[in-house]
Amino acid sequence: MRIVLMGAPGSGKGTQSQYLVERFGIPQISTGDLLRSAVARGTEYGLRAKAAMDSGQLVVDEIVLGIIRERLAEKDAAGGFILDGFPRNLAQAQALADMLAVLGKPLDAVVLFEVDYAEIIKRISGRRSCQQCGRVFNVHTAPPGTPPHCDQCDDKPPLVQRRDDEEATVRRRLEVYEQQTRPLAQYYAAQGLLRSIDAQAGVQQVTARLVAALESLPAARRRSAAR
Ligand code: AMP
Repeated sequence: MRIVLMGAPGSGKGTQSQYLVERFGIPQISTGDLLRSAVARGTEYGLRAKAAMDSGQLVVDEIVLGIIRERLAEKDAAGGFILDGFPRNLAQAQALADMLAVLGKPLDAVVLFEVDYAEIIKRISGRRSCQQCGRVFNVHTAPPGTPPHCDQCDDKPPLVQRRDDEEATVRRRLEVYEQQTRPLAQYYAAQGLLRSIDAQAGVQQVTARLVAALESLPAARRRSAAR
């Protein structure tokens, strides 16, 4: 399966990717995660990407495409992948199509997660993550009494808010999404690849809609998606 999950920040792509990773045994490739890791490691890409990320702007295509090209060449991506947060503009979408054409492995589907922006701002304001294992939690949906530290890591590090999850930056990221990324829905619809789902619901309900969307693929593409 080679799919793109498209949607505004906070629309649930990352959460649903985790489900698809387990179900299909293919990796989630999140350019946001790859860039944050490059920043944390202080690589050249990371140093160049940091300012754009902190201000909610897109990182330049050259860096993002360099990172994605390296990641797609890794062994675990040979049998398929879930792209989360990439592509984010038309130039990236075209570059991706070219990379996959060379490999003879085109996309099977693009799923668009639709969520109201008011809901997104609420979801993101509650998002906290563990800097050690990368797991994401939400203070709005966590059961009462959930401690403010990661219970998945042995030394229980504190959960922190991503700098670009502060409200003013989230608004900027939504504008960027609306101007540069949302128009890709039309680009993929014209190729017959787009499936839209209403992602304004609980996690399990959205998973059910996602599965139904993937099952609505033509049989030939579903067979290739299962490989
Ligand atoms: P995300 O975790 O996907 O919301 O990404 C966090 C930030 O990383 C974004 O606000 C951008 O600054 C940068 N970023 C992630 N993916 C891309 C991409 N495909 N193109 C450009 N910038 C990106």
